[in-house]
Amino acid sequence: MSSDGLVFHDEVELEDFEWDEDLEAFTYPCPCGDQFLITYDELECGEEVATCPSCSLIVKVIYDMDDLPPMPTSQAQKDTQPSALKSEA
Ligand SMILES: [Zn+2]
Repeated sequence: MSSDGLVFHDEVELEDFEWDEDLEAFTYPCPCGDQFLITYDELECGEEVATCPSCSLIVKVIYDMDDLPPMPTSQAQKDTQPSALKSEA
């Protein structure tokens, strides 16, 4: 393998990350108090480096692209369009 200078603070399995609906990213606690982030788009593109916005640490995300779960979406968006159900008495 090539040594491109990346030094990972840790290697974390994707299932240990938590999905953040607001950020639309998977998060994992960083020792600095912030959290590592990697977006779903980045995972789909094969990205495996989660970065912390508050420090220079990075972690390697362990996952299988073929096994990537569907994007967890918030169900709140579905409520804008009520179905054709009419309950008028
Ligand atoms: Zn950090």
